[in-house]
Amino acid sequence: MWCNPAPGARDTGLSTLHGAQAVEQGTGLQWRVLVVDNDPDVHAATCAALEGQLLFERPLVFMHAFSGDEARALLLREHDLAMVLIDVVSERACSGLDLVDFIRHTAGLRNTRIVLRTGLPGQVPDLETLLRYDINDYRTKAELTRDRLLAMVVTAVRSYKQLCAVDASRVNLELILRSSASLLETKDACEFASAVLIQLSALLKVEGDGLVCAQRGERVGDYCVQAATGRFGEFTGLPLALLPPGPALNLLEAAMNGRCNVYGEHGGLALHIGHKDEKDIVVFVDVPTTHSALDPQLLDVLCANLSTLLHNRGLLGRLHDSAYHDPLVNLPNRSHFIEKVNECERQGMDDYILALIDIDDFSATNDMMGHHFGDRLLEKVARRLQDSLPSDVLLARLGADTFAVLGSVQQVQPRRLLECALQPLHIDGVPHKVSLTCGYVLLPKAPQPGADLIKDATIALKRAKRDHRGQHLRYADQMGTEARARAVLLSKLREAIEKQQLFLVYQPQLNLDTQQLIGLEALLRWRTEDNRFIPPDQFIPVAEHSGLILALGQWVLSTACATMRELLDTGLAPRRMAVNVSTVQLQDAGFFDLVRAALAANGLQGRHLELEITESVAALPTKLLDSTLCALRAEGVSIAIDDFGTGYSSLSYLERLPLDRIKIDRSFTRQLGDPHGARIAEMVAELGRKLGLTVLAEGIEDAGAWQALLAMGCQEGQGYHIAMPMDKAELIHWLGRHPERLRAT
Ligand code: C2E
Ligand code: CA
Ligand code: CA
Repeated sequence: MWCNPAPGARDTGLSTLHGAQAVEQGTGLQWRVLVVDNDPDVHAATCAALEGQLLFERPLVFMHAFSGDEARALLLREHDLAMVLIDVVSERACSGLDLVDFIRHTAGLRNTRIVLRTGLPGQVPDLETLLRYDINDYRTKAELTRDRLLAMVVTAVRSYKQLCAVDASRVNLELILRSSASLLETKDACEFASAVLIQLSALLKVEGDGLVCAQRGERVGDYCVQAATGRFGEFTGLPLALLPPGPALNLLEAAMNGRCNVYGEHGGLALHIGHKDEKDIVVFVDVPTTHSALDPQLLDVLCANLSTLLHNRGLLGRLHDSAYHDPLVNLPNRSHFIEKVNECERQGMDDYILALIDIDDFSATNDMMGHHFGDRLLEKVARRLQDSLPSDVLLARLGADTFAVLGSVQQVQPRRLLECALQPLHIDGVPHKVSLTCGYVLLPKAPQPGADLIKDATIALKRAKRDHRGQHLRYADQMGTEARARAVLLSKLREAIEKQQLFLVYQPQLNLDTQQLIGLEALLRWRTEDNRFIPPDQFIPVAEHSGLILALGQWVLSTACATMRELLDTGLAPRRMAVNVSTVQLQDAGFFDLVRAALAANGLQGRHLELEITESVAALPTKLLDSTLCALRAEGVSIAIDDFGTGYSSLSYLERLPLDRIKIDRSFTRQLGDPHGARIAEMVAELGRKLGLTVLAEGIEDAGAWQALLAMGCQEGQGYHIAMPMDKAELIHWLGRHPERLRAT
């Protein structure tokens, strides 16, 4: 059919064709061929010869341009041109080649095939030009008979088709690659499945129905629909078995069983995505059989890529789990908890509470009953807490025996949390009673980092552990100030240890009656760079709290033993050296060995050492303490109870524990002048006599106190009136000045 060459009509014809411009190259319903020639007869002859001809199941359609300008305007609008037939010398000698340049460079039509025609032989462009512009053919008009013209157009359309297919594959591969990143970022398996469906529809250019199923268990029947579109939408989340019988189910089952992609005879396609370390996925998409984009190789590439993504996601997921999950108690861990608190803070949830719950005496239980028991105890406590909380409250394990809860104030009540442990826990069939302590903080109005809030709750928890065990305590700002001051002191203490600013002084202990030197008490001193002394009453609790006391205590012990050795070697030694020991040290499983090692290293015997422990040991679990103290005494080491009367209210431990000596606290010695203080000192002296323990009074500041104590039957004492605590050099000097004190030792 002849297309009207009149200018007005030509425009309309072109714009109709142009309606399909959005179509990608080579995918339209026709093969469009542009004829550029100023001779209307050539147009007419070409059309007459080929118009309507079917090539590769599509008709040939001609478009016409009668000048270079017309051709240019058309080329800029038209993207799916299979071929351009150009008269080389339509207007000027080189206008044909100008147009070729325009097609390739300005219009950017790389795949369009170009055939040059001329009326005259001898106007053949050179080889370089033919190659540079990718010109298919060059013919004189006389050569182009109908058959030759047809053969030439067939060749051109075929190569256009192939070039477009290569392009499409490239575009699709790019699409696959680009989608990988977003698929990898999907949050969960269902989101991944939805994204697979979206990407696949985009690739296949269908908006049809589809579904993605993932394997749950080991059996083929364990598949579940994770994402679905169109008519399958209602099956999302259901087992695949519920899908009605039909092509979709058949194809999916064939893909599962054969572990390969399956193409339905009457359309439809099922893809199998699998990796040896991951559960399989099968995808069904409704596509027509004649679908042009159904390139099996491309789908293989897609599946290979998706299976790699599936595996990578699996790896990421497992990494994430191990980074955010506590496998022992099967709860989120600290990192997860901090993230959730941060999220909560960002959302401005200010009626929220963050509570920390700690199992009292857990480490002692762990030591005594073994780690297996400890682990089971943690599990049981975790389940009790979990069962007592609504499911939308976050429960995590922050560390050792500390659990954390985040929820609204209506849902989380500290008192209720503690009540979880009212009933004994059954561990390996045996009832075990525990108590819990809780420190909590209310989320502030102004957002604060999660880690800081946990720090505040920890401060409250530690305070509760110290002063209100088995109870709950809310964080107050002033606790934070104190805690920070302690933290500063601790870091300075660490620095001081490194710079060797710590040293020991020794205070003589006398028999009040004979005035013989019976012992020395080693006392720790910290002199700062600017010559200030920081009292041990201040820094010892900080060291105990942080655990630093273990290293520090070991140093004190070995230094005191070394001094004792030196004194023995110079013949100036008293009977024994008394060293203060914190309960934290006593609870350390290696303490006994440490003492033995310090003695052995200095060639001392057990009798050369006394350990001063405080009444708070009475609160320690008896088994561990008893065995440590008994072992020490068996070595000949003596044990004194320090600061007697100031701490523990019950005196039953005096009978229970293996002790040698009671030390009357200096606060009572100071009050000897008034009846109340004197009574207490008297009572202690009497108690000691009854229990067969020696009594030593500390803080003797004058001769009156000395006499009063002696009169009460208190045998021993120390204090400024007798001697100040002295460093080693001063001590040696002092001992040299008082040979009479050493006579009987
Ligand atoms: P503490 O064991 O009761 O030590 C006796 C304290 O009384 C010492 O204070 C000593 O200097 C002081 N003192 C001695 N004579 C008199 C006196 O006549 N009048 C008065 N008012 N005080 C006297 P210091 O050295 O300040 O030690 C305080 C506390 O620090 C000690 O009390 C002890 O609990 C602790 N401490 C000191 N050194 C160590 C150590 O090496 N390890 C441990 N765990 N604690 C230590
Ligand atoms: Ca002491
Ligand atoms: Ca004391």
